[in-house]
Amino acid sequence: MHELGLALEVVDVVSRRAEGARVRRVVLEIGALAAVLPDALRGAFEIAAVGSSAEGADLEIRPLAAHGRCRACSHVVATHDVLAVCPCGGIDLEWLDGTDLRIREMEVT
Ligand SMILES: [Zn+2]
Repeated sequence: MHELGLALEVVDVVSRRAEGARVRRVVLEIGALAAVLPDALRGAFEIAAVGSSAEGADLEIRPLAAHGRCRACSHVVATHDVLAVCPCGGIDLEWLDGTDLRIREMEVT
């Protein structure tokens, strides 16, 4: 399960950054093409955090738009949909980003 691996990685990173403090909240940004299910990731995070300093922390997930350049007209489309269509009607997009997952913020006490 893809989400559990990600959750373990996030817990590992925030625990190290918290340096023994309690993690209260984590904000993740996830690209539209990362193929991550937010609910699955939230559930996996809860499990992965047990016994770590992130146990019980709130996980906020913010979707990030992906950008694709239309191969027909070079227009760059920002979208949350992998099946995006360019205003010119083109559907052949060269993806410039959208698979990123990053820890945007964390709150510790
Ligand atoms: Zn186009």
